[in-house]
Amino acid sequence: MVYKYCPACYALNKGEEEICQYCGQNLKARKEEDYLDKLIWALNHRDKETVARVVNILKMLGPQAYRALPALEKAFQNYEKDPYLQADIILALGEIGGYELRDFLFSLKDHPSIIVQKAVCQVLAQLGRGP
Ligand SMILES: [Zn+2]
Repeated sequence: MVYKYCPACYALNKGEEEICQYCGQNLKARKEEDYLDKLIWALNHRDKETVARVVNILKMLGPQAYRALPALEKAFQNYEKDPYLQADIILALGEIGGYELRDFLFSLKDHPSIIVQKAVCQVLAQLGRGP
């Protein structure tokens, strides 16, 4: 299932929707690149639930969201007190992939949170199986 993220109200919509089912924003006019820029921007949103939703969308986009890597790493630092969100960010990074990811993950192997450590190990194992 493909989802679209409303740039106006941040609601999740099904991929085939042309307008947001929550606020009526036109979803179709946006180019893919603008959409990713919006997602990257929304990672700095004050509302943590919004950030959590964006992280999940980036995870679904996978390698297409490659440009979001630095912003995701920054979001990770911003949520030092929320290991669950941090773990989600790590799992999203794992789906996006990229060579620089390994160094970032290795730097987190001794993270104080076991929840974060678990996600790091999972993604490192996943990368190990990759091409
Ligand atoms: Zn909307």
